Amino acid sequence: MPARKRPVTGGARRPARRKSLSPAAAAATIFELTCPKCGAAQPGAKVTTVLRPEDADGLAALLKGTLNVFTCAKCKTPFRLDSPVLYRDDARRGLIYFTPGESVETLERAEKQVTELLETLLAAEDGATAAGEPTAITCRLTLTRSQFIEKVMLWRNELDDRIVEYVKCQLLNKKDGQYDPVRMELFYDFSQPDAANLTFLILDRESGQPAAGAHVPMELYTELAATFLNDAAMRAELDKLFPGYYVAVSRLL
Ligand SMILES: [Zn+2]
Repeated sequence: MPARKRPVTGGARRPARRKSLSPAAAAATIFELTCPKCGAAQPGAKVTTVLRPEDADGLAALLKGTLNVFTCAKCKTPFRLDSPVLYRDDARRGLIYFTPGESVETLERAEKQVTELLETLLAAEDGATAAGEPTAITCRLTLTRSQFIEKVMLWRNELDDRIVEYVKCQLLNKKDGQYDPVRMELFYDFSQPDAANLTFLILDRESGQPAAGAHVPMELYTELAATFLNDAAMRAELDKLFPGYYVAVSRLL
């Protein structure tokens, strides 16, 4: 379920160059944080920049909405630092990048960031993978925390997010107009493990609160996945539906 806590957004100055997401970078980087309320420096605050699949604490914090949330050492105000986070699964070769939408002017610019990130990672891989051709990397870009959480959980549950976005489109296009894409936003609901259904949480965009739930039989997902993924022409069609790293139902509506 997307995080609902909304602490104020904190300010940070980066002492290092922007390429802090190099493969060698530690999962936490020391930023020069300042409290947005009283301006006090926050020495030693550890900002998570890379999340690994085995990082249970980081993942739990992400789901709880407490990742990169700090409490001012001086005035005790909680604040959140909205800085980029990369979910990086080397074993399954997946990258999910979160860069807060407010900090990028355009989607194109954010996609460029991801391309550069990917190039950096691949360049670092050269030589290390000389024994064999590296398999393709699945790479996704997200602009909100809710999107980021959703993509991470779809990835962890081994669901193809493109098929899931396609299913959302079918739900939103239902003739009865039950779900208005202008007012409602659908998110994969991983909090209700249900092998028989693919469940969604429908959030009111304005309030950010859950308005309803919806589900489709998992069979529908499986059939769609087979249709799209087992055929070269259909795979190409899927690539056309979702060009680039930003995979969202909004591309289909
Ligand atoms: Zn403070």
